[in-house]
Amino acid sequence: MKRALLALLFAFAAHAAVPTPSQFLNLKVGDDRVLADYRQIASYFGELQKESPRVKLETLGKTTLGEPMIMAVISSEANMKNLERIQEVSRKLADPRGLTDAQIEALARDGKAIALVTCNIHSSEIASSQMAMEWAYSLATATDPETKRRLDDVVLLLVPSLNPDGQIMITDYYRKYAGTKYDGGRLPWLYHHYIGHDNNRDWFMLTQVETRNLSHAIYHEWHPQVFVDEHQMGTDGPRMFIPPFADPVDPDVHPLIWREANLIGTNMAFRLEQAGKAGLIYGYSFDAYWMGGTRNTGWWKNITGLLLETASARIASPVTIEPTELRGGTKGLIDYKATINHPHPWTGGTWRMRDIMDYERIASDAMLETCADRRQDLLRDVVVRAKAAIAMAKTGEGYRIPRQQRDWPTAQRLAALMLEHGVDIQQTESGDYWMPMAQPYSKFLVELLEPQRYPEVRLQAGKDILRPYDVATWTLPLAMGVTVERTVIPNLSGKRVTEIQPETQAFVKAHEGQPKPRVAIYNPWGGALDEGWTRWLLDQYGFAPKSLHPQEVKSGLANIDAFIIPDVAPEMISTGRGGRGEEGGGMRYNEELPPEYRGGLEKAGADVVRTFVENGGTLVAFGAGCDYVIQEFNIPVRNTLAKATPAEFSVPGSLVRVHVRGDHPVTAGMPSETAIFIDHPTAFETTAPGSEMQRWVLMSYPEDARDILLSGWISGEERLTRKAAAVAMTYGKGRIVLFGFHPQHRGQTAATFPMVFNALWWKTQ
Ligand SMILES: [Zn+2]
Repeated sequence: MKRALLALLFAFAAHAAVPTPSQFLNLKVGDDRVLADYRQIASYFGELQKESPRVKLETLGKTTLGEPMIMAVISSEANMKNLERIQEVSRKLADPRGLTDAQIEALARDGKAIALVTCNIHSSEIASSQMAMEWAYSLATATDPETKRRLDDVVLLLVPSLNPDGQIMITDYYRKYAGTKYDGGRLPWLYHHYIGHDNNRDWFMLTQVETRNLSHAIYHEWHPQVFVDEHQMGTDGPRMFIPPFADPVDPDVHPLIWREANLIGTNMAFRLEQAGKAGLIYGYSFDAYWMGGTRNTGWWKNITGLLLETASARIASPVTIEPTELRGGTKGLIDYKATINHPHPWTGGTWRMRDIMDYERIASDAMLETCADRRQDLLRDVVVRAKAAIAMAKTGEGYRIPRQQRDWPTAQRLAALMLEHGVDIQQTESGDYWMPMAQPYSKFLVELLEPQRYPEVRLQAGKDILRPYDVATWTLPLAMGVTVERTVIPNLSGKRVTEIQPETQAFVKAHEGQPKPRVAIYNPWGGALDEGWTRWLLDQYGFAPKSLHPQEVKSGLANIDAFIIPDVAPEMISTGRGGRGEEGGGMRYNEELPPEYRGGLEKAGADVVRTFVENGGTLVAFGAGCDYVIQEFNIPVRNTLAKATPAEFSVPGSLVRVHVRGDHPVTAGMPSETAIFIDHPTAFETTAPGSEMQRWVLMSYPEDARDILLSGWISGEERLTRKAAAVAMTYGKGRIVLFGFHPQHRGQTAATFPMVFNALWWKTQ
């Protein structure tokens, strides 16, 4: 009795030392208009590590702007003393080659489930970064038997923000304008230094340090079985999306992935409903096909990934939604009403960050519950999936990246990327890279190395197919211009590769030792993803481009050799306002940014750009930016798809074939045929100009529409035949290059990178 009392007192004293987030930070976490920034969050996790034997921090690496990226490891006291062994078991189960059934059974019996939860990758989706502190506190201090059981069975890896730089940008901006008429408004720039919202589209290409940091922890260190990524969506629909996912489904992903996601998701919704939370939906909007997102990429690497999307407030400010403003309109909920996947609609009213945190917290706890209940199933299922992937291979089958190919340095980059993904790579004596199919990640290899054919799923007879959620292709050999062969080599003798240092690419070598052109990129207020990706690409190759807002362009393009207009809608470039359609009474309302962040190029800016080119500058435009140039400059080019409706032409993001002109500086080093990435209706038609100007069609689409699509999905492709995809021309003393596609798409399309650099270097004689 006395001993029990002492133990109780001791437990109380131990936990009393752990402050709540609100106590430690001296602010009311989760209250209206209260936000902890990332540095405060990290300091709180530091305190938890100091005071609780259940919490340990790992630094995953540095962010783009130099913040340490932290991940908390949370489990029972006993497990925390045994983490190395727990990691080892998880690694062995993820790659069971060489293990006997008895060994696997013993590992599954003794191992712990590892669950990764990532928060706040999209920085304005802020609630999860606050929830993470409260959840960690609760797990660190709980004394009830159920929580202790969960912590005995599960190791939780909790990342409070996957984009710390953006979390700080958002909290700084929010605090600055709180209580003003811009309270809770959007940022005037991207919330990741380079790639803004696209930081969740980088998970197979791993271009950014944040992506690489977490990816390394997942696929080289921890090998979690379950991965939950916590997001927020719009304000006026359902309150929370929880898997099951929506169609289409990738038939190559092991079905146990979906069964586990459904099991975990169903328990989340069940616990939320028991707590009286309305507005839960499944089978909505978010599909089981697209590869680019955090947890999605893991599906092809045998990890069960779940996405949570909770309705947003205005950052930390409440929002009130009228019942008549609630809407569906998206796959899985066309009309806003009770349906079997949405049986208890939210009826409107005030919605606050605290609501989001509560929903997220209940769902997160329910995930731990299922992982504890199903610990052995989760560990055995990983083995089942890995073995199924290994068994796909014929004897000696694999992918070869031959040493003898047009662009070996870029081929090395592809091999290095696969290595970073945890793929087994060997190198033969002749220098070829070889990736055997008989490995746990073989489905991942197939997915990234073969063309995609988008599954055309109809939910009702006679209706249109479900359109892709995002892009419809990720075939890296095509995008990068690298030769990769699927072949059989029965007695291959290769050495396991542990490091690859790619050689210098030809387009870089060609200009070694020369002063670089001085480059500026147009940067509209509100930020443009394509501006960020362009800036990232040029930074990678040492161009250090300037990024110019409309006011800066208007004040002149002095000391600039080349000006890039990225893929931004022409109306946005001219006026600073989004070009939304008026058809069907479309809304014209645009939420205002503060006055210093408003405006577009207008006439004054357009005049500056025109004078810049006339006097000898180079103007380069991508995607919709070309439409702006066609509109503002007197040039013999038109976009024949400028007014095409989605029924006439549609491409969500696919790789297509073009023929490349061989005798122009901008196409130097390019093969006669290549793949380009298109997601915007552009098909140029040129006409012979007067003698004041020269023009060149740099790339053109095939004559036969059936030759166009290489990977992905397209409709109306016959409208591309015999049209130009890229054109160049002289203009006064300067030059214009129009790329009617994304030559630098999300850092993936290395096949067309050389043309971007060639355009910047291009000088007419
Ligand atoms: Zn998001």
